[in-house]
Amino acid sequence: MIFRLLVIFLAIAGAYYIIRNVFGNSEYKSCKKCDGKGYWIAMRGEKDKCDICKGSGRIPRQY
Ligand SMILES: [Zn+2]
Repeated sequence: MIFRLLVIFLAIAGAYYIIRNVFGNSEYKSCKKCDGKGYWIAMRGEKDKCDICKGSGRIPRQY
């Protein structure tokens, strides 16, 4: 019973995630280099601003 509810919930969450990915970010996609965070952790533990997306974490889709 609980397992079935969990499966239904996961199906709804998965569908919502896919729909958001396909329709929500039609103009932008998350930056691959920094994984959408806008920065990455440098060797010495500092936050380095991403030069691909300029810190926004998103890049235009055609880029
Ligand atoms: Zn980036």
